[in-house]
Amino acid sequence: SYRKGGYHAVRIGDPFAGGRYIAQRKLGWGQFSTVWLAYDTQSSNYVALKIQKSAQQFAQAALHEIEVLLSIADGDPSNSKCVVRLIDHFKHTGPNGQHLCMVLEFLGDSLLRLIRFNRYKGLQLNKVREICKCILIGLDYLHRELGIIHTDLKPENILLFSTIDPAKDPVRSGLTPILERPEGGTLNGGSTMNIIEKKLKRRARRAVANISVRRVSMGGGGGGEAGKSARSLDGIDVRCKVVDFGNACWADKQFAEEIQTRQYRAPEVILRAGYSFSVDMWSFACTAFELATGDMMFAPKSGQGFSEDEDHLALMMELLGKMPRKIAIGGAQSKDFFDRHGDLKRIRRLKFWPLDRLLVDKYNFSESDAREFADFLCPLLDFSPEKRPTAQQCLQHPWLNLRSSDQNEMHGQSDLDVGMSNLQM
Ligand code: ATP
Ligand code: MG
Ligand code: MG
Repeated sequence: SYRKGGYHAVRIGDPFAGGRYIAQRKLGWGQFSTVWLAYDTQSSNYVALKIQKSAQQFAQAALHEIEVLLSIADGDPSNSKCVVRLIDHFKHTGPNGQHLCMVLEFLGDSLLRLIRFNRYKGLQLNKVREICKCILIGLDYLHRELGIIHTDLKPENILLFSTIDPAKDPVRSGLTPILERPEGGTLNGGSTMNIIEKKLKRRARRAVANISVRRVSMGGGGGGEAGKSARSLDGIDVRCKVVDFGNACWADKQFAEEIQTRQYRAPEVILRAGYSFSVDMWSFACTAFELATGDMMFAPKSGQGFSEDEDHLALMMELLGKMPRKIAIGGAQSKDFFDRHGDLKRIRRLKFWPLDRLLVDKYNFSESDAREFADFLCPLLDFSPEKRPTAQQCLQHPWLNLRSSDQNEMHGQSDLDVGMSNLQM
């Protein structure tokens, strides 16, 4: 993919935007882009630099993403709505063409990584509540104030963040900026330069590992205890932000019929029955379940004589009860899956396992934890999209303000009971 029209190859120390941003280390990548930690020499801050592939269709997609991010930043001058902030954008010309670049505030690890670090066992419910509040504040802002549907909400697209600024406190963060690349050095070539490059790479890697630990472990406060607290999120104010607006749309200006990542996809999308803001609420419920249990709520697979879509619908009904006939047969694609009675055509026998029972039987929740959590999630998983609570309504739900003591968490383990070594990439 590092060819004409593709990714832009970046080396540590590379300058962007006339030298304002200096590349430090790769943070992540997607189908369309690579994302780099960069140092902003103008503001002395670290930023995330998202560099799009250069071909026309990728540039088009980036322009759309920038448009969405601009309206998000416009409506939130105090940057308090739990949505990632666009700082700058520009074009960068390289050997593979012209790349649109987005400069975003630098955030921490994704919730997917948090779930993985916790060995897929689920976070403490108190932490799940904090994270849910942040996501809902973000969704309420997008939906109610901007009319934007995210359409790709999932743990991977929600990033942790802390108020500690490594640029202002480099000693505590262990991060000092790399400002230049040695003249003529290449990653594969020459001997001396190669050693310097390797050193820089190692330094950048170590630095960001420290930030990840700190960002996960220290949240909004505390000092000098990164090593100790890295194993647990105990007593930490967990905060996060919604990212990745490449697929977002306005409710009245939709582009795609098939939206959302498979496991987080709402039934009306599968059935092609039209969609609105409530598809994000469905994905939100799937995400909350995954945070609390470590398992995806729905992980459909195709099988002998049935498709992934049909399996997905079957899994939904086994957990949530039968889909009302009117809804089942109401989509443009319904005939592929349902007969005229509203029964699935190829998967005839469903094994019902309601959410509150599942939480007790499979995930060792206490009866009361299970009842309360199911009471929070089930309305969000209503087959009828109009009946799902809005983010604003959901923010009023009493579950968000419950507190369980650690003893009451029958399934409770420490959130991050892994050594620091797991965090060092
Ligand atoms: P694509 O559209 O190119 O397929 P994508 O839309 O999934 O990719 P993003 O989700 O925006 O791209 O970014 C990819 C990854 O880069 C994220 O999952 C995350 O690991 C990292 N990343 C993105 N933005 C930031 C940020 N602001 N701070 C820190 N890391 C980030
Ligand atoms: Mg993404
Ligand atoms: Mg994207």
